[in-house]
Amino acid sequence: MASDAQKTFYLETFGCQMNVHDSEKVIGTLISEGYRQVQTVDEAGLILYNTCSIRDKAEQKVFHRLADYKKLQAQGKKFGVLGCVAQQEGDRIFERAPHVSMVCGSASYRNLPEMLVQIEAGKRATGLDDRETDQCFETEFTARTNPHRGYITIIEGCDKFCAYCVVPFTRGKERSRTSDSVLEEARRMAELGYTEIQLLGQNVNSYKDPTGKKTFAELLAAVGQVPGVRRVRFTTSHPRDFGRDIVEAIDAVPTLCDHVHLPVQSGSTRVLAAMQRLYTREQYLERIQWMKGARREISITTDIIVGFPGESEAEFEQTLSLLEQVEYDGVFGFKYSPRPNTPALKLEDAIPDEEKARRLNVLLERQREIQRRRNLRHHGEVLEVMVEGKNEARAQWVGRTSHNKVLNFRAAAAPEIGSYVPVLTTGSFPNSLLGEMVV
Ligand code: SAM
Ligand code: SF4
Repeated sequence: MASDAQKTFYLETFGCQMNVHDSEKVIGTLISEGYRQVQTVDEAGLILYNTCSIRDKAEQKVFHRLADYKKLQAQGKKFGVLGCVAQQEGDRIFERAPHVSMVCGSASYRNLPEMLVQIEAGKRATGLDDRETDQCFETEFTARTNPHRGYITIIEGCDKFCAYCVVPFTRGKERSRTSDSVLEEARRMAELGYTEIQLLGQNVNSYKDPTGKKTFAELLAAVGQVPGVRRVRFTTSHPRDFGRDIVEAIDAVPTLCDHVHLPVQSGSTRVLAAMQRLYTREQYLERIQWMKGARREISITTDIIVGFPGESEAEFEQTLSLLEQVEYDGVFGFKYSPRPNTPALKLEDAIPDEEKARRLNVLLERQREIQRRRNLRHHGEVLEVMVEGKNEARAQWVGRTSHNKVLNFRAAAAPEIGSYVPVLTTGSFPNSLLGEMVV
């Protein structure tokens, strides 16, 4: 066994909010096993990377990190690779980086305590579940990093198999937690003082209560009604499972934030079919119309992939026209990245990287203009923000609106971090708003 002095770990997280929250659970588990978290690789006995393989660039980062720190193995430090790259590459990681002693996919985190014992004994530990697990990683040891806002994963994995995506292979099959256990966690968090809860899932709205008690919209409303909860967010929603009842819940329950992230991926029905998204441009736009028809103004954001194999210039133009039609409040744009095991690998007519880069620039520039225009509408409005921090250099406080916009503001008296304050919006940029706290 390692001595207590050695039982320190450093954990770096790459990728999405699911990974950030998984890391909070991994940290909690390690602490419960007697480890202490440290902030630098130098101080740590165990160095862990929670990895992302959604795009090639993300995947390469972990191998660069491992190469950078290989020399530290001579000092007795141990290395572990967690998350999507671990699940995807499996034992091959040991060949590529022989100084790694633990490889563990997200579906195996519940086995971490035993794996830690193994690596402490100088052995290698592998935790790779097949797609078939129906267990969720529920733990009482979640080390949440923010005392005001916390994540709850309600559904893990994905069964959609979009043609370009590794997630169904790296995160296993879709499995939901019971609504009782989600509500219990929300209540516990509210008692601890959390006021904002973010429900998470690769497709959060594909949620299916194993007990059949609540639909996703009903669960959303119930979390919003937990005493002490002031804001509920949820991400990511899949258009195929996006029902009108979600919009009705947002209208009916004021604590549900008026923001929906609804990835479209492409504005062309032909490309959507090739991507195996199983909805058309028109069906997607119908969902947008439901949101535009809501009593509260809902801010809408999306993900878009440019340069999917065979995407013609005219099809890319259709994506640009969709941007104008929807008028998104935010867009995450990505160049298509070919991923292992995915059906899109076999498609012909790859788009050259320079052309993908050009399309991405055009897309983001067009969207910047839309956001510049959209944000003007907030001028003169008083918006409630949750105070997130202070930008000392600019002498501005940083807040976030229910619409999920950053609102930087000045205040005569210092507001408390985590409190909710009214701010008069006096200016805007494409990615943020500017204002003065109202006293
Ligand atoms: N489940 C969500 C959905 O289907 O809308 C998305 C989750 S995925 C982790 C986040 C985003 O990564 C996707 O919406 C997509 O835009 C992007 N993405 C996934 N695979 C990609 C690939 N091979 N190349 C480029 N972007 C990709
Ligand atoms: Fe990936 Fe599609 Fe599943 Fe989203 S729905 S995680 S893009 S396979």
